[in-house]
Amino acid sequence: MTGELPAARATVGQPEIRDMPVLLTPGPLTTSARVKAAMMRDWGSRDPAFVELSQSVFERIRALAGGTAEDHVCVPLQGSGTFAVEAMLTTFVGAGDRVLLLVNGAYGHRMAAICGKSGRAHEIYEVPETDTHDPLEVARRLRLDPQIGFVAMVHCETTSGLLNPLSEIARCVRAEGRQLLVDSMSGFGALPLDMHALELAAMAASSNKCLQGVPGLGFVVCRKDMLEAARGASPSVVLDLQAQADALANGGQWRFTPPTHVIAALDEALAELEEEGGPAARLARYSQNLATLLAGMGRLGFQPVLDSSRQAPVIASFVEPDDAWFCFKSFYEALRLGGYAIYAGKMTGIGSFRVGVIGAVDFLTIEAFLRVAEAVVSEMKQKVIS
Ligand SMILES: *Cc1c(COP(=O)(O)O)cnc(C)c1O
Repeated sequence: MTGELPAARATVGQPEIRDMPVLLTPGPLTTSARVKAAMMRDWGSRDPAFVELSQSVFERIRALAGGTAEDHVCVPLQGSGTFAVEAMLTTFVGAGDRVLLLVNGAYGHRMAAICGKSGRAHEIYEVPETDTHDPLEVARRLRLDPQIGFVAMVHCETTSGLLNPLSEIARCVRAEGRQLLVDSMSGFGALPLDMHALELAAMAASSNKCLQGVPGLGFVVCRKDMLEAARGASPSVVLDLQAQADALANGGQWRFTPPTHVIAALDEALAELEEEGGPAARLARYSQNLATLLAGMGRLGFQPVLDSSRQAPVIASFVEPDDAWFCFKSFYEALRLGGYAIYAGKMTGIGSFRVGVIGAVDFLTIEAFLRVAEAVVSEMKQKVIS
């Protein structure tokens, strides 16, 4: 690529460092200068100032998830989001329990892998990656098997970018008297989620997606009575949510080294979320980003994989053009030179690639990306002709 492409610029994130691409990915994603700056000091993990910071961060996350101080708690966990999903499944689904897993993408399959490895009895209800689950079928399966105490689902299936119908499924699980566990990793902080109203048992998410913090921390917001009932049930020392919650409740100390800088950055990211106007305002910004992206990519000839009614304003999958000029690797590298990092596809049976719309980016960022993409596409097509 020539160096004449428009310079990348995240109008919200303003990366000041040369060669720092704008991340149009599902996370880690572009963070603001403020969030990055919050990591410029050291914290003693047992120092009261850090204990207070950490408690305040997890109280605010509990409230954001619609959890009440009385009945819910946010249990943080060192590591990436999957650590939190594994902790949630293996702490709550006991050795004698059975869980129904709703699968329509790689993250659903990951839950099955976790249950398989940890010996948690599970049944899989799988639908194609572009479809959502039928609540009536969920109800039918639950009635058929009273041994199933839990249902686990993915809120936004990041594999395709699909929004699963959380409230419909929650209503059906509740009506059948079972417990719902939700992986809301790529939605929490923007997509509506109210644990109390939906009567969710637990929800797992992480620091580095719609909360716009940096990676290194997962967490599970859950009901306190469920934690108590799970005492001693986890087969793991580090992933035992009940033991982690116990330690934090008794003096605020983490059991093992906490990611101090990540938590300080998350504290700042939560302040930004509040200043922006909360999850509803963030969702509106992401929706505008998505609309700008879909319209612009459409003009360049790219087809979205999902029906617009199922598309979450988080990340969009596009069909890889079946044309001589297109090659994802060259497309990626040229965009990267122009200052933008997109994401490879993850769908089975269809060539796709993904572009994220979350993070400290706005529609102007997306418009700037589209100008680069237009130049890249025309150069790639030119190469085939010449
Ligand atoms: C990102 C993500 C996860 C966690 O992935 P990590 O790589 O472990 O952070 C889990 N579920 C979904 C739906 C996700 O988007």
